[in-house]
Amino acid sequence: MRRVIRRVIVRRIIRKIIVKRPIRRIIIKRIIRRPIRKVVRKIIVKRPIKRIIVRRVIVRKKIIIKRVAFPRLPRVKIMYDETYDEAIHQLVEKRHTHMAHMGGQLFARRLRKATKPMLKRFLVTAENVTGLKWRWHIVRCYVAHDIPFDFDNPMTIKIRGNMKDATETFFHELAHQMELQNNERIRHRNNLSRKYRNEPKDTREHIFAHAVLWKVYEKLYGRARLKKIIAGYRLWPEHYRGWQIVKKEGADNILKAYLK
Ligand SMILES: [Zn+2]
Repeated sequence: MRRVIRRVIVRRIIRKIIVKRPIRRIIIKRIIRRPIRKVVRKIIVKRPIKRIIVRRVIVRKKIIIKRVAFPRLPRVKIMYDETYDEAIHQLVEKRHTHMAHMGGQLFARRLRKATKPMLKRFLVTAENVTGLKWRWHIVRCYVAHDIPFDFDNPMTIKIRGNMKDATETFFHELAHQMELQNNERIRHRNNLSRKYRNEPKDTREHIFAHAVLWKVYEKLYGRARLKKIIAGYRLWPEHYRGWQIVKKEGADNILKAYLK
């Protein structure tokens, strides 16, 4: 029985190590008992775990921990989840039908197809232009009906007919994801954020993400298409203002100001 509990604890700790870095060592020490503590210490000592996942193999009641190379880029999983969608439908007081399920699955497939050609290059370029790394090895992107706005955590894209719009939103939310995953490396208070502190919240929150997108799009699509994408943001004046700030200050200067 004890062993089972330990296994559960170890599994939890390992997950913590993988997902939540930096690790809170004290907590780990407090939770675990001796033999396991040794194993975990090993993991801690062997850091920086540069993109290494720790795979747990239980052989003959002994816990052996193997180091496995972390795939360089995260797996981005675009998915529809019926319960998630149903919960949202209840919140916004809309009826949830079987058709919603079909539509959700279909949209997830379409979004997967639409983003596939660009996705890998986007992930690589985002790392290259910022010097940041993707820290989570799986990014789940849910698609859902009738959400009031798209958001980055858990990444959720509204189901819609316009696939171009959906694709752009998907990459936009990915840029926020990168910001989120590297939160400890971003200086949220800096010269530029102070300069624009009186802007609306939505504008302020998009200065860094748009600077990342600017650099990535410029590399992947070139200036002309970048301009077109920015023009598409006119529908959301606060976001659009974010782009204007990036244009005025220069994406490089913004990255410099925000990155530690
Ligand atoms: Zn945004």
